[in-house]
Amino acid sequence: MVEKELRDKYEVVIGLEVHAQLKTKTKIFAPDKNEFGQEPNSLTSPITLGMPGVLPVLNKECVNMGILAGLAFNCEIPPRCKFDRKQYFYPDLPKGYQISQYDEPICVNGHIDINGKRIGITRAHLEEDAGKLVHVGSNGIAGSLYSLVDLNRAGTPLLEIVSEPDMRSPQEARAYMEELRDIVRYAGVCDGNLEEGSMRCDANISIMPKGSKEYGTRAEIKNINSFAALERALEYEIDRQIEIVEDGGEVEQETRLWNDDTKETKTMRSKEDANDYRYFPEPDLMPLEISREWVEEIRAKMPELPAQKRERYQGLGLSEYDARILVEQMPLALFFDKAVELGANPKTAVNFIMGEISAYLKENHQEINETKLTPENLAELIKMIEKKTISNNIGKKILLEDMLPTGEKASVIVEKKGLSQISDEGAIKDMVKKVIDSNPNQVAAYKNGKTNLLGFFVGQVMKATQGRANPQTVNKFVREFLDK
Ligand code: ADP
Ligand code: MG
Repeated sequence: MVEKELRDKYEVVIGLEVHAQLKTKTKIFAPDKNEFGQEPNSLTSPITLGMPGVLPVLNKECVNMGILAGLAFNCEIPPRCKFDRKQYFYPDLPKGYQISQYDEPICVNGHIDINGKRIGITRAHLEEDAGKLVHVGSNGIAGSLYSLVDLNRAGTPLLEIVSEPDMRSPQEARAYMEELRDIVRYAGVCDGNLEEGSMRCDANISIMPKGSKEYGTRAEIKNINSFAALERALEYEIDRQIEIVEDGGEVEQETRLWNDDTKETKTMRSKEDANDYRYFPEPDLMPLEISREWVEEIRAKMPELPAQKRERYQGLGLSEYDARILVEQMPLALFFDKAVELGANPKTAVNFIMGEISAYLKENHQEINETKLTPENLAELIKMIEKKTISNNIGKKILLEDMLPTGEKASVIVEKKGLSQISDEGAIKDMVKKVIDSNPNQVAAYKNGKTNLLGFFVGQVMKATQGRANPQTVNKFVREFLDK
C-alpha cells in the first residue's frame, strides 16, 4: 500500500467501458436463441459460424433495447447510426471480425447522476459478442493442454456503454457501475449479473498530480467479475501507477488483467489503437435510420427507473437508506410495489421485507420468488396487524414459520391456530389481576422502588396468552393495579 500522504499528491481519473448483454430472444444478426447454459455449440447457425456467403440480419428487438437503454442513460438517439467491422484474429471469432459500431453509434451524449455528481456517458453502441474459449488443463492459455471453443455466445447482442473519464475514485467507479447495473435491470434490457458475465466492465485508470489539467496515460483493466473486484483492482492499480511515477518512470498504455486470487494486475497486451482494427463500414448491413416516432414509442414504454423509484419510496415515508437498499434488490422492490399496491402500509411492508423476510431468504439461500409468500398474503398480514386482529410479534412469527415456507394465508393460520389478539378489556383485566395476586414479593419490591419490574408483570401476562394479549391494554392495567 502506498502511504496516504503520497496518494494525496495525485488525482485519480477513471472511465469505464461496460458491456451489457441484451436479453433478446435471439442473437443480434442470426436466428439462434440467445440463451446461457445450453449444450456447447448448439446455438450455432451458419451465420453464427461465419460460413461463407451468409448474411447478417439485424434483430429489431436489439435496436429497441438499445434505444430504451440509451434513453434511460439520458442519451440522444441520433436519427442515423451504422455498423462497422472491427477486425481481429481470435479463435472465438469465426468471421475474423466483429460487427460493431464505430463512428456512428446508436446512443450519444448521455449521463447519469451518482450521489448528486454527474458522470458523462460518451456513447453506447450495439455489437456482437464473441464465443468462449475454454482452456483445459490449466487456468491460463500458457501451459494448458488444449483449448476448446464454444460459439453459443458468439452473436449475443451487447450494448457497450462508454463513460467519460469523470470518476475520481474507485468508490465512485463502483457506485457508477452499480447504478448502471440497476438501470439496465429495471429497464428490462439486461440481467446485470457480473459474476455470470451478463455485464462486464473494463476499467480505464490514470493518475495525474493534483491540480493538473492534463490526464496521465491510462491502463485498461479487464477481467473484473464483481463490484468488489472493480474496487480492489482500481486500488491496486493506483498504487502501481504511483510507484512507477515516484520512481521516475512512465505508465505505459496497455491492457492489464486483474487476478482476484492474487489481487494484482498483470500486463496482457500493449493497447491497440483504433487503426489496428482496420474499422470499415459493414457492407452487409444498411445504415439504420431511427425515426423520432420510433424513439417516442419506446420512451413511452420506459419502466420506472432506480432514481425515480428511490424518490417515490421516500415520498411513501421510507428513509433514504431503506429506499436505496430496497431499490438495489430488484426482486424485493417489485414485491414491495405489489404489496403496497394491494394496500399494505409501506413502512410496515419495508420493515418486514428488510427485516424478517431478508433474514429468512439469507438463511435459506433463496430469492423472494422462490418462497411461497405472495404480495397478496403479505398485504393481508399487514392489514391484520393494523386492524389489531393480531399483534406485530405474532405477525412476524407466522410470517417466518408458516407463510414463507407454506404459502398459507395469514387469516387461515390465525383462525386455525387461534392466534387473534385478545383486546377484550375485561378478560385482560382479569388476567392481570391473577398475575399480580400470585406474585406478592414482586409487588412489594415494585412498591419499594424497583419500578423496572413493570416489564416482569407485562411479560407474565403475555406469556400466559402466548403473546396474544394486546400489549397496550396489558400495560395499562398493570400500571393501574400497581400504582393504586
Ligand atoms: P478505446 O476505445 O481505445 O478504449 P476510448 O476513447 O473509447 O478508447 O476510451 C475508453 C475509456 O477510457 C473511456 O471510458 C474514457 O473515459 C476512458 N479514458 C480516456 N482517457 C482516460 C484517462 N487518461 N484516464 C482514465 N480513463 C480514460
Ligand atoms: Mg474501447
